[in-house]
Amino acid sequence: MSEQTARFVSPEEIVVGEDAVEDAGDRMAARGSRALVVATSGVFGRYGDRLRSSLESAGIETAVFDEVRPDPTVANVRAALERYRDADCDCIVTLGGGSPIDTGKAVGVMAANGGTIRDYAVDRAGYEGVPDPIPPLCAINTTAGTGSEATRSIVITDESTATKFLVVSTEVVPSVAIEDPTLTRSLPPSHTAFTGIDALTHAVEAYVSVQAWSLPDTLARSAIERVGRWLPVSWANGDDLTAREEMLLGQLQAGQAFTNSSVALVHGMARPFGAQLHVPHGLANGVLLPYVMEFSRQGAPKRYAEVARLLDAADDDTPDREAAAAAGPAVRQLCEDISLYGYLSEFAEVPSREAYAGLVGEMAADAVASGSPDNNPRKPT
Ligand code: NAD
Repeated sequence: MSEQTARFVSPEEIVVGEDAVEDAGDRMAARGSRALVVATSGVFGRYGDRLRSSLESAGIETAVFDEVRPDPTVANVRAALERYRDADCDCIVTLGGGSPIDTGKAVGVMAANGGTIRDYAVDRAGYEGVPDPIPPLCAINTTAGTGSEATRSIVITDESTATKFLVVSTEVVPSVAIEDPTLTRSLPPSHTAFTGIDALTHAVEAYVSVQAWSLPDTLARSAIERVGRWLPVSWANGDDLTAREEMLLGQLQAGQAFTNSSVALVHGMARPFGAQLHVPHGLANGVLLPYVMEFSRQGAPKRYAEVARLLDAADDDTPDREAAAAAGPAVRQLCEDISLYGYLSEFAEVPSREAYAGLVGEMAADAVASGSPDNNPRKPT
């Protein structure tokens, strides 16, 4: 790609609305005849029948891998690949959040290109990307969220080193994304909070990134506004389908924004934080985001000022530097409104101060290796 051009990637089709899961069969009928359905057991137990009847009534046979674990590992995606091959599948349908979506994408990479998923990690010496596109993949999202149904990223945990690695390629963008608020209604308040803050982090980081440009900017701005308004509503009342749909839209926009711009320092730090201390990804982001915003705002004061305005924490006529200073506290307030920090002791394996001190150097090195901190408007040492 020439330095003068920018490229925007997206799923070929995006279906949004109540009962959209029932469109999966029609959307995939021309794309494959034997689908591997990839899910966690809990989500498959809840919604698997609805999905299978949609696929089967469109003439698509199904095999199921419902053993995805949150933050999927190399061994987990290898087991899913075996199921794909044993059942002679030619397409993939994921049902769940970022973990099943990334598992499905990883199965696709290995099915199309061979090897193990570690061979395609961006931090690998001699990295050459993903040569051939994954088979047709329909991602039915049940968190709101990672935006993985619209991104060119895969995040996998290497259990041998307790690190998360990234695969990044336009060849892994799903063909179809489905956003159905009747599926996110069952997401408990804790995961509504984690995944919603993950989406906000994507949008803020895409907007302040040194890679930002006009097209993802519009999506990032809209996502910040949407998540700021609707996350507290969907957290407080999970049955509010308007709030659930607005959050699905906001996190989709945030995913599209960051995958066509970038994430930055928060994500660089959150991956080792999550992998070492077993903190859910969104919670790790939410703990870090206000502090990283405070550190970074002097690198892009106009952008942070706009974030504060989109979150209703500053007026149009507030001077930029003053407005920028309100952005981090506004995010912190939002996190408090959804009790995010209260979940830390429940979900994270918080180590002793001594053990943590021993890990900090390793975690910093992992953060740097991901490349994400290079996109930050203010560079950390
Ligand atoms: P998840 O997919 O790990 O799900 C978390 C838990 O919520 C699971 O136990 C799951 O069974 C449950 N769950 C999901 N949907 C539910 C529903 N509707 N009702 C009840 N329970 C439900 O969570 P996530 O935050 O969506 O994904 C996190 C993963 O995504 C991490 O590995 C993270 O690194 C990765 N990620 C990937 C990208 C990308 O672009 N590829 C971006 C951000 C994060």
